[in-house]
Amino acid sequence: MTPVREGLLAIYDDLAKDIAAASPVCELSGRCCRFLEYGHTLFLSRTEADLLVEPGLPENSTVDEKGCPFQINGLCTARERRPLGCRIFFCDPNYAGKGEALSEKYIARLKQLHEETGTPWEYRPLYLFLEETARSSNPPVR
Ligand code: SF4
Repeated sequence: MTPVREGLLAIYDDLAKDIAAASPVCELSGRCCRFLEYGHTLFLSRTEADLLVEPGLPENSTVDEKGCPFQINGLCTARERRPLGCRIFFCDPNYAGKGEALSEKYIARLKQLHEETGTPWEYRPLYLFLEETARSSNPPVR
């Protein structure tokens, strides 16, 4: 395992403890994964994207700005590999404000990890990384 992957998994473990302490409620509405409908964009680093797409995209998935292809029948099928944004976002009103503070803390830590491991920092909307993955799994026919 590369040092940056190892560091990322440690960050996810630490975040899980902070989320458990904040104890937001998830009612499994699936809103967090339907980006266009609820007016948000999921940004992530290439390091997180590489982990997320490691097994490839779900079969027959559509890649666009509307949502995430890993959401199937309203549930995330990539829970163990999901990026920071997915782990931090909750629509529980009692959690308001806590997500922003956690985002700030963990994105700073992720950036620091990139610096320490000499990994280039690349931070983009999810669909751009997924488009790359879709292209590399279905190269154009010549
Ligand atoms: S990775 Fe999972 S939690 Fe994150 S947007 Fe996709 S389906 Fe939702």
